[in-house]
Amino acid sequence: AHGVEEVAIEDVRVRRKNLDVLAEFGKLKAKNAANFVVIGHVDAGKSTLMGRLLYDLKVIDQRTLDRYRKEAERLGKGSFALAWVLDQGTEERNRGVTIDIAMNKFETETTSFTILDAPGHRDFIPNMIAGASQADFAVLVIDASTGNFESGLKGQTKEHALLVRSMGVQRIVVAVNKLDTVAWSQSRFDEITQQISAFLTTAGFQSKNLAFIPCAGLTGDNIVHKTTDPNASWYTGPPLISLLESSEPVARALEKPLRLTIDDIFRGGVQNPLSISGRLDAGTIQVGDTILVMPAKETATIKSIEVDSAPSDWAVAGQNLILHLSDIDPKYLKSGDVICPPSAPIPCLTSLTVKVLAFSHITPMHVEVLKGRLHAPGRVTKLLAELDKASGNVVKGKKPRLLKPGAVARVLLEMEEAVPLEQGGRVVLRAGGETVGAGLVE
Ligand code: GDP
Repeated sequence: AHGVEEVAIEDVRVRRKNLDVLAEFGKLKAKNAANFVVIGHVDAGKSTLMGRLLYDLKVIDQRTLDRYRKEAERLGKGSFALAWVLDQGTEERNRGVTIDIAMNKFETETTSFTILDAPGHRDFIPNMIAGASQADFAVLVIDASTGNFESGLKGQTKEHALLVRSMGVQRIVVAVNKLDTVAWSQSRFDEITQQISAFLTTAGFQSKNLAFIPCAGLTGDNIVHKTTDPNASWYTGPPLISLLESSEPVARALEKPLRLTIDDIFRGGVQNPLSISGRLDAGTIQVGDTILVMPAKETATIKSIEVDSAPSDWAVAGQNLILHLSDIDPKYLKSGDVICPPSAPIPCLTSLTVKVLAFSHITPMHVEVLKGRLHAPGRVTKLLAELDKASGNVVKGKKPRLLKPGAVARVLLEMEEAVPLEQGGRVVLRAGGETVGAGLVE
């Protein structure tokens, strides 16, 4: 048996080309790559708007849409055809909700986009967090129709905005949607813009990082094409797609040590018996590299790499990858594990301090700590200090015993098992099926 194993390993032994990955990347003049997450209240029109975007960019064709239309009409849900572009599974369609982060890619001349779709349903917040932690910006969809805007604000609009902010998202494009239902009223648009921008700036977004656009996903006005509705002639700005394209290229953490959090693990491929997927958060990687899997502390060899589904000898931070591995037993790999260079492993912590924004009451209690696909049980053991929201300075006085929703504090977490986390990592705390807070590992 020993001999067989040696041969098997020898078979997949790969040649490392010793590339200067940063130089290769520089030569490429790659398109701007942007990952974004779509947030907003349920029924705000998120799926419809994204379906429209893909349809008008010709990512999906007329025949496919016609098929969806027929199916939708058969089920008596005619207006949902566009929304289905993103929801592939029929089970999801029948239930009318998007279950997981549907990864969808599309390109324009300047930018290659990945939509990390965020569903509006409460229970699906963990998926949204996984999306938001990989997003460069968010598209917040607001239902402008009378009454719905107000109930949306009380609903998920605020919660989602706080959440993406605490996951490190800095820029938001606000689609003030369904303006067709209010005859493209400029005063309605202005009123919503004012309220949302006041809220977003108190939530910590800088106003220079906010953009507002009047649109209607269902009719396609101001999505890819500028509206021709005479009632909307007061709007002279660009359509949504231009705002998405003008998102600043994200400062890529190219020079930092390699970090990739595993999303999924695939086994049993004929050519590639063991593969993992995830976004490269930091650093560079090339075929032939030896990597370390944390927390297992096991090494593996990179047999081959796919960047956005195309084979590549190398990859850099910001790209979504599939890595085909050899020289490791799959039992050492699970979703949420982190891939590092053996020379600079991510620490595995059993105790950590987190600067947390409370969404609901936090006291010393059991919590689940989430970072991307990492879900780990732990306990808030101490509330160390309450912090001023704006300055981050410690609020003088005695130590808090209870954090109220909206409070910012430094808390001590003890984990049941060592988890791969490091300073600057964004985590979310959940308890009893609810998101109780989100914050930054200190
Ligand atoms: P989601 O829950 O945010 O993904 O919302 P959906 O995309 O499923 O849309 C919810 C409902 O609003 C559906 O009936 C859509 O047809 C409708 N809708 C979406 N966008 C628009 C729009 O721009 N104008 C109008 N009038 N209705 C829309």
